[in-house]
Amino acid sequence: MRFSIRRTRRPLALPPLLAFVMLAVLAVVPAERAQAVNGSTSPCALRGRGNAVDEGQNTDYTQFLNPLGTKKIGVVYVDFPDMAGAGDVADYYNLLSPAANWVWDASYGKTWLNMRTTLNRWVRMPSASGTYGFPSPTYQQHSRYVTDALKAAAGGGADLSGYDMFYIVSTAHSQVSRSTAWFGTPSALPVVNGTRIRWAVTFGTDMWHWGHKVAAHETAHAFGAPDLYAFSGDSHQYTSGWDLMGYLGGRAPQYFGWTSWKFGWTTDEQVVCVWQPRTQNTATLNGVEYTGGTKLLVVQTGPTTAYVAEARRKVYNDSDLCSSGVLIYKVDTSVASGQGPIRVVPNPNAAAPPSGCGTLDMAAWQPGQTFVDRAANVEFTVRSADAYNSTVNAIKW
Ligand SMILES: [Zn+2]
Repeated sequence: MRFSIRRTRRPLALPPLLAFVMLAVLAVVPAERAQAVNGSTSPCALRGRGNAVDEGQNTDYTQFLNPLGTKKIGVVYVDFPDMAGAGDVADYYNLLSPAANWVWDASYGKTWLNMRTTLNRWVRMPSASGTYGFPSPTYQQHSRYVTDALKAAAGGGADLSGYDMFYIVSTAHSQVSRSTAWFGTPSALPVVNGTRIRWAVTFGTDMWHWGHKVAAHETAHAFGAPDLYAFSGDSHQYTSGWDLMGYLGGRAPQYFGWTSWKFGWTTDEQVVCVWQPRTQNTATLNGVEYTGGTKLLVVQTGPTTAYVAEARRKVYNDSDLCSSGVLIYKVDTSVASGQGPIRVVPNPNAAAPPSGCGTLDMAAWQPGQTFVDRAANVEFTVRSADAYNSTVNAIKW
């Protein structure tokens, strides 16, 4: 579920004088309003690095695939000298293809994954399945895997032109154990039969465990989203079963509304932003599973930090969720993938979790409940709720 991406060079440290001048400027100029690639002009649209998977709203769509619209995805099925293709490639397609409807629903009909089989058979990789470094290939190993697969497909007669990205599906029982997203380095994209390769997901044998949601997860990496599970310690400590970027087997896999905003699925008009001190606002939040309405109530707490409230309901992609109500979480766009860029706020008055649900899965806030972070000067109160909406007041002290 991790991704491989070439690390960019760290920028040179600022000369001390320039740093001093910038500090002086920052002291008198109000906080810069973000101008995100998703078109957002909201002061709550926190910026990230842009060219890294993070929760920043300023995604660089030369590095990442713009989520909006129909994405043409060429599907390639690979086997190996040590592992001949097992079964019919159509079974692999049928396992992954429900991701299209899943993402269609998650995106409110703004993204369609148009998956097309490029060659209706296995293509043979030149090297054994254990030689590519899975489950954790280096960028070079992963690039070799992607280019080997696409060269083999092209050699077999596949036309690779016209696709936005590729799904490269390994035969079952190979040593490609883990599904991973791959990003081409914009300045050095591999070219196969005249086609420049920008984005790919390589599906491993874990797809038989996770099913189609692994395609929704990995494709969201191509869109710029980070992993929300923890790379060390308890992997569910930050978001438990909320959002499939946190847990593919989670009970509430709909993407967080914040990520939906980053993807352009949720627009500025659907976001209520509280950013000036000693202000407040009240929003009637429509469940993020439904289309339309106000989706997010955001309190900006710093250049890279915010508290976010969104409504969650037991419908559509979240039809199995553990607790309906208002989810409150912290976003920090400076926090790297796997380190907790989104952290769900626990609710001390939540009901005890039933079997199959964790404590954090029960954290949705109910009418009459108030969350206060005195250090951050933030307060949220849930005023009322029905089957579709929760009305929430937010204060920035
Ligand atoms: Zn991942």
